[in-house]
Formats: sequence, C-alpha cells, structure tokens
Amino acid sequence: MNIQQKIQLLREELRQHNYNYYVLDNATISDYDFDIKLKELEMLENEHPAFFDSNSPTQIVGGTITKKFNTVVHKNRMYSLDNSYSKEDLLDWEKRVEKVLGTSALEFTCELKFDGASINLTYENGQFVKAVTRGDGFQGDEVTNNIRTIRSIPLSIKNDFVRNFEMRGEIVLPIDGFHKMNEERVANGEEAYRNPRNTASGSLKLQDSAEVAKRPLDCLLYQIVTEERKYKTHFESLENARKVGFKVPETISLAKSIDEVFDFVNHWDAKRHNLPYETDGVVIKVNNLQQQEELGYTAKAPRWAIAYKFKAEQVATVLNEITYQVGRTGAITPVANLEPVQLAGTTVKRASLHNADQIEKLDIREKDTVFVEKGGEIIPKIIAVDFTKRPENSEPTQYATNCPECNTQLIRTEGDAKHYCPNEFGCAPQITGRIQHFISRKAMDIDGLGGETVDLLRKEGLIQNYADLYDLKVAQVIPLERMAEKSAQNMVDGIQKSKEIPFEKVLFALGIRFVGETVAKKLAKHFKSIDNLMSATFEELIHVDEIGDRIAQSIIDFSSDLGNIQLINRLKSYGLQLEVSAESLENQTDKLQGQIFVVSGVFHQMSRNELKKAIEDNGGKVSSSISKKTNFIVAGDNMGPSKLTKAQDLGVLIISEQDFIDKIS
Ligand code: AMP
Ligand code: ZN
Repeated sequence: MNIQQKIQLLREELRQHNYNYYVLDNATISDYDFDIKLKELEMLENEHPAFFDSNSPTQIVGGTITKKFNTVVHKNRMYSLDNSYSKEDLLDWEKRVEKVLGTSALEFTCELKFDGASINLTYENGQFVKAVTRGDGFQGDEVTNNIRTIRSIPLSIKNDFVRNFEMRGEIVLPIDGFHKMNEERVANGEEAYRNPRNTASGSLKLQDSAEVAKRPLDCLLYQIVTEERKYKTHFESLENARKVGFKVPETISLAKSIDEVFDFVNHWDAKRHNLPYETDGVVIKVNNLQQQEELGYTAKAPRWAIAYKFKAEQVATVLNEITYQVGRTGAITPVANLEPVQLAGTTVKRASLHNADQIEKLDIREKDTVFVEKGGEIIPKIIAVDFTKRPENSEPTQYATNCPECNTQLIRTEGDAKHYCPNEFGCAPQITGRIQHFISRKAMDIDGLGGETVDLLRKEGLIQNYADLYDLKVAQVIPLERMAEKSAQNMVDGIQKSKEIPFEKVLFALGIRFVGETVAKKLAKHFKSIDNLMSATFEELIHVDEIGDRIAQSIIDFSSDLGNIQLINRLKSYGLQLEVSAESLENQTDKLQGQIFVVSGVFHQMSRNELKKAIEDNGGKVSSSISKKTNFIVAGDNMGPSKLTKAQDLGVLIISEQDFIDKIS
C-alpha cells in the first residue's frame, strides 16, 4: 500500500467512526483508539502535504480565522414556511393542496421543527464545498470553515447518492451542551448565554473556527435540493441521505392522511420537552416530489409545506413601566418594561405593546401583572392582564402626547394605528434611523459605514441627513473615536461608490413612508425618474398597479415638502442615479403586458431566474402554478408530467425557450 492509499484508508475509517458516533450515536471504537488514528493521519498529512484535503477528518478541529464573512447569493432561494396554529388551519391547507393537485390521494411527511439557525450546505461530486447561512433567503454569509468543524456533518459522502446537491438543515445546540457551556462561562466569570438558538447562530459567525469546534453544535438535515431526479419522494431522499452520512432526525415520519398528521402533532406536543433539542413546532410536507414541484411557491414560502406551531409558553410578570420608542419614520412604539422573568428558555425584560389601541383594548396599565407569551418572534407580547392582581390606586394608561426624544406633540392620522412624531428633520432617532435605512444593504448598500457610526456622525454634527454623507471628507472623519485613517477612507470610498446604485434602490433608500422595496421597484419602472414621480398627481399615482391611496398620499406629502425637494436636488448634484438607466430601459418593453407565465423545467440559453426576469422586464407576470388565468407555459427539459397534463386540461399554451426568446426579441 502506498502512502496515498494509506491516507485515504485512514480518512475513510475515521469518517465511519465519526458517523457511528455523531450520527448513529453508537460508537464502535474507544476515544483513545480514535485519537491515535487521528494523530497518525495528522502525521502522514503533515509529512505529505501534497495529499492535503480540506475535507479530511483532521480539519474538523478548526483553526482558520475568518475576518469577514463573504455574502453569497443562494443558487436556490431559501424560503420561509407558512405557519398554522390549529387543526382547522391544517385542514384548510390540505384543501388548498388538494385543489391545486386535483387529487386527495396525498401522503405527508411530518418532521419536528428544530429551533436553531438554518444552513445551506453545497456538495459537488459528493464533496462538501461550502456552507452559507439563510440570510434574507436570497443571500447569506459564507461560513464554510466554521461548519467544517461540526462533527456530524459529512464532508465527503459515499457514492450511492445524488452527486451535486444542496443540503438544507438546522444548526442546533443541544440543551445539555448549552447548559454545560454556560456553567463554564459562569465559572470563568463570563455572562451566561441567553438561549440555545441565538448561541447556535452566533457560533456560526465566530471568527476563529477552533472556537466553533469546541462548541457542541449539531446539524439536523431536512431537505435536499438537486436537479438529479433520483428519488421520487421527500421521505425516500431523506432516508438515503441518512444512509450516506447525514444526520436526518429519526423522528421524521410518514403520514397517509391528515389524521395521522394530527397524531404526530399530538404526540410531540406532549413529548417535545424530553427531546435533546429545542423545537417550536412540526413541519408537514407533501411527500411526493413531483407534486411538490407542481405546487410551487408563494412569494414567501413553499405551497407544499406548512409549519404547525406548538402553543407558545406563557408566564405572568409585573409591568413596571411603559416607555415609548421612535422609529425612523417617526412612528411611536410603546414598550412594556417588565420585571425580568424566564420564558421558554430566555430572560424576558421587555415586550412590545404595538400601539395605543392595543393598550386600551387590553386595558394595560403600569404595575399590572400581565401574561406574556413568546411565539416565534424575538420580542414577546402581552396577551392579557391579570385583573385580580391590579393595585387599588391604578389609573388607566394615558398614552404619550409628546415625543419622548424631541418633545414635539404627537399626531395620529385617521385610519392609522400608530402615533407619529412629525418633527422629521429635528428628531434625533428619525434623523439617524433614516440615514441608517439609506445606507442599508437593500438600499444604498454602503460598505465601510455602519449604523453606530451614523449615530456618531450625527452627534458630532457632521451629518443631518443622507445628502450630507456625500459631502463628508476623510479629514473630518479621522478625529472621531475609533476611526483610523484607513477606515475613514473606506467609508468615504463606500459612500462615493454608492452613486452607481440603480434608481429603484435609491428610491427605496429615500425612506418615503410605505414605499418598501417592491413598491419602489414598481414606481421606478412606471415613472422612470424621480422628477416624473415627484410631479405625479394623486390620480396618476393610484392608477399604477398595486399603488393604493395610502401610498399615493405619502408620495404626495413627500414630494411637496420643501426640505425633501432640496435633499433630492442635492442628491442629483452629487450624481446619484435618480432615473432608470438607459441600459435597463433598453431591456424593458411592454411586449408581454398583461400576460401570465408559468416556467417549468430546465433551460439552456438562460437560467430560470433570467427567464423570469425577462418576463417581468417585458411587462409580463410570473406565476408558480398553472391555473385558468395562465396564458403561457415556458417549458424546458424535464417538465413535470402532471404539470403537462394540467396544462393540456386547461388548454394553456405551451411554448419552448426559443419561442419565448422570439417573442421578446
Ligand atoms: P420560519 O423561519 O418560521 O419561516 O421557518 C422556516 C425555518 O424553519 C427554516 O428556514 C428552517 O430553518 C426551520 N426548520 C426547522 N425544521 C425544519 C424542517 N423540518 N423543515 C423545514 N424547515 C425547518
Ligand atoms: Zn420626535
């Protein structure tokens, strides 16, 4: 046997032991013998660096340092899940699914919804190549080196599985391991971590992978994304994933009917506290992969899956004080400051009260004992008052009349649930908040400038609004606390570079109330320039698809404000993109106006996403499922047979990729 074969053999042997131990929970070798073999491999690898392999079992002890985590666009979007809270919700979902598929012969998988951080693992030719966090679903952070240290993730898998795929799963911290970590921290005089979920996701962003390797993280897998059609059902694909080394929870179960789904839910609702990991519900999925494809996705979640949330835990505590926060648009949010209390594994000190109506409706008062509930959301909410414990001298809550930050009298327009501070240009959190929004990733995406620096720059009197950013000079910034010359230069460069950001993002960045990302896109496409938009009348605005009274009025208000007009003129003079670029105009037509497309299969001349973008650029709409309203199906290779039947039944026109290209050229 030569050295290379010897190294290979040792790696395979150690991989098998890791699998037995971390996935099957059934060790067949002593720790001591394992270490000896690992040392031997390490030695051989050191002596023969030519055979280095980043997926070798020796690499899982970590030691790489990541200074900045790269943003990576997901090849396939990571969706969230629709939620349900009752059996009725589940039955409704089943009906919707049956209607789309036109059959009631369905099979479901039931899985526990583990509460951690979602991760996307990419494998090429059976080799682990990268790991990316979910991020916003479209793009996340690459945390490959840290993920490599998690023992239960196979870095190289056996041959009898698909070869190129993404594996989706949840990085979790077992409750036991979490407590152990905390005991050590407290013993070292450090502060204890709050809950396993945040600690798990925080661990992924540690710079030193050796630190990550020390944490007892685990990865539970729940979905394979691949173009190879080796398996017919979700269950089968997961069973096979487990066989080749992935930790697929044993709790996953097949249900032949929705009643069997209920059985699963009931069983685990009662037993979930005995599990080694935190769970917050059950995920139900249509088992047949063909049917999954047919069902497709809404803007946010797959239609073929639904989460059933376990009833949130509740606890009673005293509400000490109600305070008020001012957001970037001036919206006021009342906050309940609570007597700290343990709830679902975390210490809760604050709860959101939403708005004045909510406080009035529940009759919430300071010094009341209140019931606090934590669903999936980060900030818990108050669901009721325990009136039996109300102090005798209690008075109804008088909602704030003035802004807690600038003391301006608050206003509330009809039909709006929230109070606002109208002092747009003089109220500190509004000024800071607007600039923070302006520089954020989905807006101007300015590198080298963070939210805290914005606040500092404002406090130092260097900026009052987002236009001021473009006047900043390196020399002005250097004297600030924690600013070195290099970071000052980076910041100014980042700001200047943002002048290339396309109009639709600039429009979103302006922070016009109710003009979110999607609305900004619509408006940019329709009006093509800020001048056209700002001179549009109310009637013109509401004629735009999906623009209602509320948005239209907000744009009118923005456009008629002298301060805003001056700001926009300044942005123009700095050279920001305040109109749609000629290039993107060129690609846009109305050729497909009013036509609805469904895209199915694999394409050659453009990717599926490019195809969808081309449909939208030419005025068409993309839908993910076939209905009577569908005008065309653009069919690539391997279009699902059931989609085909459905299209034929409904008489929808099926066209090829080339037909489509001809249509728009
Ligand atoms: P949500 O964030 O509430 O929209 O729920 C979606 C998230 O649930 C996914 O991104 C996963 O991180 C997580 N999840 C946990 N268990 C599962 C599972 N068995 N199937 C799908 N998603 C799961
Ligand atoms: Zn104010």
